[in-house]
Amino acid sequence: MDLTFLGTGGAWGVPELNCECLICRELRQNGEKRERTSFLLTGETTLLIDCGPDARSQLSRHKVERIDAVLISHEHGDHYMGLDELFAYKRNSPRTAFNPIPVYVTDKSWEVIGPRFGYLENMEVIKTNKIEPWKWVRQEEFEIFPFKTEHGSFAKGSVGFVIKFKNQHGVDVRLLYTSDFMGLPDIPSELIRPDYLVIQSFWLNEPRHNRPHHMSFQRAIQFIERLQPKKDTFLVHIGDADMVEGDPANDTAKKYEPKEPLRPLSGGDPYPIPLNQVQWQETVNEIISDRGLPYKVIVAYDDLRVRI
Ligand SMILES: [Zn+2]
Ligand SMILES: [Zn+2]
Repeated sequence: MDLTFLGTGGAWGVPELNCECLICRELRQNGEKRERTSFLLTGETTLLIDCGPDARSQLSRHKVERIDAVLISHEHGDHYMGLDELFAYKRNSPRTAFNPIPVYVTDKSWEVIGPRFGYLENMEVIKTNKIEPWKWVRQEEFEIFPFKTEHGSFAKGSVGFVIKFKNQHGVDVRLLYTSDFMGLPDIPSELIRPDYLVIQSFWLNEPRHNRPHHMSFQRAIQFIERLQPKKDTFLVHIGDADMVEGDPANDTAKKYEPKEPLRPLSGGDPYPIPLNQVQWQETVNEIISDRGLPYKVIVAYDDLRVRI
């Protein structure tokens, strides 16, 4: 099974349009970017997890010829606005050979998505399969367990997924994707000790006011410790909303002051805010090793492909 990160950025991607903050400047200078978060699981069949506004370039770049199903985590634009791109899979199939692509989504999320993209169902491009938290469903070689995530009042249908499949040795593997979240109302045993964890890390430091209901790496550490992934943890949905010392853009609306920034356990200055991919990974390594945590945490980047 291959895990391909198509995008690893927050809702507007980075570098962000019209943003001159130090993080976005650094990324532009390095030629780095993070598109909207989405990934593929490819075995005998292909599962697309979330389908944001960058879907067209992401799927073209990876020459994805076939999508067997799509999981939508919630009704925020960065996770579903690319659904119309699926039309290309129907348009380019022989006239009678195309079956609508199953799209797994909660009722509550579809209440918001349906009025915009319901025509895709009428035109037999997609077929919605309604899911409910805590109920397993099967899609070809994948078993999927949606679980409720707290992501604010504008994302009432928000779920994460445990996805179970067999690796090339026939061994069961469980991958857990939190999607966007601020908390988990319940952590049933299905979520504990997954093989792989894909978790949101929108900021490095938890902000003083977390109104957008996202997860910082600082708080994600607590969830990593509770969920106890056996193998790798991947950070995704990374943004540019941490304040960076001396940045004139710190007074823009999206920048959040940290509540109590992460610092080495021995004390001293807080860890500097990482500006680019290399700095993100170094900072995460330092924090994990400083705390003596037995977890391998990989800062995912766009187009990272891992055999799992
Ligand atoms: Zn998002
Ligand atoms: Zn969201």
